Amino acid sequence: MKFSAPDIAKLKEVIANPRKTVIVSHRNPDGDALGSSLGLKLFLEKKGHEVSYISPNAYTNNLKWIPDTDTIMVYESSLGKKICEAKIKAAEVIFCLDFNAISRLEGLGEAIKESKAFKVMIDHHQQPESFADLTFSNVKYCATCEMVYDIIDDMGEASLVDDKIAECLYVGLVSDSGFFQFNNTTPNTHFVAAALIAKGAKPDYVSEKINNIFRETRLRFFGYCLNDKLKLVNNHPVAYMMISQPEIKKFNLQSGDSEGLVNYPFKIEGIKMTAYFSEEPDRIKISFRSRGDVDVNTFARTYFEGGGHRNAAGGKSSLSLDETEKKFLEALKSIDFSK
Ligand code: 5GP
Ligand code: MN
Repeated sequence: MKFSAPDIAKLKEVIANPRKTVIVSHRNPDGDALGSSLGLKLFLEKKGHEVSYISPNAYTNNLKWIPDTDTIMVYESSLGKKICEAKIKAAEVIFCLDFNAISRLEGLGEAIKESKAFKVMIDHHQQPESFADLTFSNVKYCATCEMVYDIIDDMGEASLVDDKIAECLYVGLVSDSGFFQFNNTTPNTHFVAAALIAKGAKPDYVSEKINNIFRETRLRFFGYCLNDKLKLVNNHPVAYMMISQPEIKKFNLQSGDSEGLVNYPFKIEGIKMTAYFSEEPDRIKISFRSRGDVDVNTFARTYFEGGGHRNAAGGKSSLSLDETEKKFLEALKSIDFSK
């Protein structure tokens, strides 16, 4: 058993009979949010539950190939709010996957807070809030997908994991571990990967779908960012890029097209922290990445209304790009890079 026996027993009891079930994941869903939610959805449907997966906003085109994405209900869409709120109102059980703070749902959070459904959180981020009736929270897990597999296994139900479910869960595993390169990769990550491959996940197919599906303009945009936009900070092992709305328009970028860019500056030897700032219509969205002891979770929480993991976090700013840059450079002084 990987999780506590009483928690697993409780979950088994909750899903013993068919229930009206809703799954929600964080805004701007990534491979782990989508993979864990869709994998769990397919599993629960096999057990006879009626399951709706609601995402706060649309998923990006480059994740469309994941099984069952056409069933995702999007809250921030013209018809979405009413339909999603009705589903949430009727729900007996709500699973909260790959987030641990209601604020990460933004507008959808109110409906979830008000719901009387039994709530189950499955998440691997730092500092969980206690809004769920049953909480599976463990920062040692590299991905929520890894947790979902172990929870299914702990319930004695691994035989229900078929090739589609395995593929969904494998997507989150490789997304959040950077294809087993980041320091969150553990022996357990590889055990779960092995189990998922044995059940039909195809590593080469998933890798191609994640890594090699760029449109030409996206690859040229990466080139532009690395050539023209990359800045190295004086006296700190930090590199960052800031992209404005006109630049995003010029390259005809779709959301999700900057995915992965934030990791490139680590190719420069000695870089310990990177940041990617993208100007969206209503905010500047920020991604932070770091190596070793440099804690970008705390940094994002303290200065940019965000959070995440020690070495991968996100946040936002309502200032202009220039002001955000100034704030960022000033805030960097709080980090001790000597460790
Ligand atoms: P990304 O940079 O890929 O958007 O996010 C990196 C990590 O930080 C992910 O685990 C993501 O869930 C988390 N994250 C991104 N944005 C936010 C945010 O605004 N708040 C919090 N708490 N976590 C975030
Ligand atoms: Mn995750």
